[in-house]
Amino acid sequence: MQTRRTISHRDRVELFRRLIAFDTTSAKSNVPAADDLANFLTDRGCRVDRFESEHGQKVNLVAHKGPECDGGLLLSGHLDVVPATEDGWTSDPFGLTDVDDRYVARGSADMKGFVALAACLLADIDADQMNVPLVGLFTHDEEVGTIGAQRFCNQWDDRYPLPKAGIIGEPTELRVVRMHKGHTKLRIDVLGTPAHSGYPHLGSNAIEKLGRVIHALTELRRQLESERCDTSQFYPETPFAILNQAVVEGGVAVNIIPGGCSLVVGIRVLPGQKSADTIEAVRHTIGSIPDIADDVSVSLIGDSPPLLTADDSEINWRLCEHVGQTETAAVSYASDAGPLAAMGIECVLYGPGSIEVAHRPNEYLPKDQFEQAWGSLSDFARKWCIDGWHSEG
Ligand SMILES: [Zn+2]
Repeated sequence: MQTRRTISHRDRVELFRRLIAFDTTSAKSNVPAADDLANFLTDRGCRVDRFESEHGQKVNLVAHKGPECDGGLLLSGHLDVVPATEDGWTSDPFGLTDVDDRYVARGSADMKGFVALAACLLADIDADQMNVPLVGLFTHDEEVGTIGAQRFCNQWDDRYPLPKAGIIGEPTELRVVRMHKGHTKLRIDVLGTPAHSGYPHLGSNAIEKLGRVIHALTELRRQLESERCDTSQFYPETPFAILNQAVVEGGVAVNIIPGGCSLVVGIRVLPGQKSADTIEAVRHTIGSIPDIADDVSVSLIGDSPPLLTADDSEINWRLCEHVGQTETAAVSYASDAGPLAAMGIECVLYGPGSIEVAHRPNEYLPKDQFEQAWGSLSDFARKWCIDGWHSEG
């Protein structure tokens, strides 16, 4: 039988430090970090299952403790981080640096601090006392469009019942967030006919056609900005679906009529809205431009769904009650919670650190939030998995 171990503050910081030291920028493999985490969890009594991507460069990790039954709690975090190539870092981004009341490193807030806490919680909780399981899900490629979580939805084979309630530890400064916008990426390719610019009658200019597309999509953006839905009230600054014409590429040389160009568009629909409707609006808008519709194609390159968890869902009201939160919180970024919710897991976001320092040089996690999150999450997980809310009467 496994001996009972208690995870100390030092153990938590040590695991945090080790996770930070793996450069898990989304463009790189997350396997070394996942292996380290898997060993940590296996050594401490968890069942760990790995789900590798096609070429083995990426892995989603699932750690399970307790009985294999319904009613458990899921804790989930992504292992990847955004690149740390910005100017302005005053310490090694991949070394956890103690600076006064902060831990500074890439991924400290977003979100290896939470991952370390979730793993320590899985290690610390006593399987023999549990009535329902605690499950950890550690994903790859969240930062490039929740790709790992979307892949996990297809990889999961029901080898045991997955919890229907989940906490995704995005940095919310320990506020419970039950809704976020989605993020859809479209690529629009425009065809022309290349020719020498001295003989324009032999060609057709793709960039001029794209100009008309951009103009039409600007009109669509204005129209979207004037529309409201039920969740608009939670977004006082942007109560609408956002359409961003983000990247334009095309053209070869000043003396060549461009034969092709492209535009990448990002769309952030509100919770409760469907990205398919907005994609259709984009297609319709482009299809309505006279003479060029046949030269323009729209392809979907990513679709991370929005999150809308009901106010009275168990995970939301219990966690809100646990932390003493009465108001509804919503955020504008997409997360793994979108795809996991689509899989039938009711999710909220709740984690230490601030999104405002994430993705920036000298990203940091306040030490007191790291400790506070540990206290709060371990109490909550124990109530959920050991004490059993349902017996409270
Ligand atoms: Zn994140």
